[in-house]
Amino acid sequence: MSWNVILRRIFLVDLIKGLRLTFSYQRPGAVYTEQYPLERPPVAERYRGAPRLNNHPETGETLCIACNLCALACPENLIVVGWARTEDRKKRLTTFTYDLSRCMFCGLCEDACPVDALELTQDFEIATYTREGLIWDRQALEEGPQPTRYSR
Ligand code: SF4
Ligand code: SF4
Repeated sequence: MSWNVILRRIFLVDLIKGLRLTFSYQRPGAVYTEQYPLERPPVAERYRGAPRLNNHPETGETLCIACNLCALACPENLIVVGWARTEDRKKRLTTFTYDLSRCMFCGLCEDACPVDALELTQDFEIATYTREGLIWDRQALEEGPQPTRYSR
């Protein structure tokens, strides 16, 4: 073993070099860790996340015409559309159930929707403590997820 190697070991040169490199990344400008949930990361433009049942922005009425095409398009059969006939024989949406626990976010349901009522949004915070919590009813679909917002 050469004197050079022995001296490096005695004076812990490699350890000090490693520590110097480690601490050089402690500067706020050099931090690469995402600061979620304080800072929400941007998701890809075509990301398909939480489903949303859209309402008309002015009237607040649902855009859904209860045609059931989304349920028929879903390979997992996880959408259940409830409807009733109005007095003038029009179909009116009553209930809408979407089982997120079985959804693979393929987007076939939103593609099938003729009026853009059903949409897979960029919301990604859909975790819940129970399986039942993943079965969204019409109200949950219209309101969307309500995750806790953290601030510094
Ligand atoms: S995204 Fe795919 S699996 Fe999920 S409800 Fe729509 S069609 Fe079904
Ligand atoms: S396809 Fe669209 S309009 Fe038809 S039931 Fe589904 S969400 Fe409603």
